[in-house]
Amino acid sequence: MSKNTEQIKPLRLPTCYYCDLPFDHAFDDMVTPDTQRLFTGYQPCDRCKEAISKGFLIMGVVEKPTFPNQPEITEQNSVKLYPTQNVIVLSNEAKQLLKENDPNLSHITDETPGSYMPDQFVKELINQFSDQLTANNSHPENEV
Ligand SMILES: [Zn+2]
Repeated sequence: MSKNTEQIKPLRLPTCYYCDLPFDHAFDDMVTPDTQRLFTGYQPCDRCKEAISKGFLIMGVVEKPTFPNQPEITEQNSVKLYPTQNVIVLSNEAKQLLKENDPNLSHITDETPGSYMPDQFVKELINQFSDQLTANNSHPENEV
């Protein structure tokens, strides 16, 4: 008998741009380093949608696509902007703090659901607020 030569092809799954996991989280466990992500747009999965709705979404953007044929997410002063997958969801407290510390962000109101910001700035924010991803975090880590 010959051995089983069935080829295992790398999976190609439509994934959420924000968390990089399959849209259908029932498939989360099937994701391996070989899994190919299939970009299907910027709509968040249900889990991310919920996290985003509870906080303030900031997406890092650059002026060049980050992968071939990437669609722009917005256009400002006729410059197309492309997200970098550096994304942070700030709690409302962190959003308030950010506003108070940066006069350039005074246009952000309580009703503003999110913002596109230069990628470098968002990277710094992610470092600064990495312990404040409360919108993504169902168990508080402040407990002693
Ligand atoms: Zn997601």
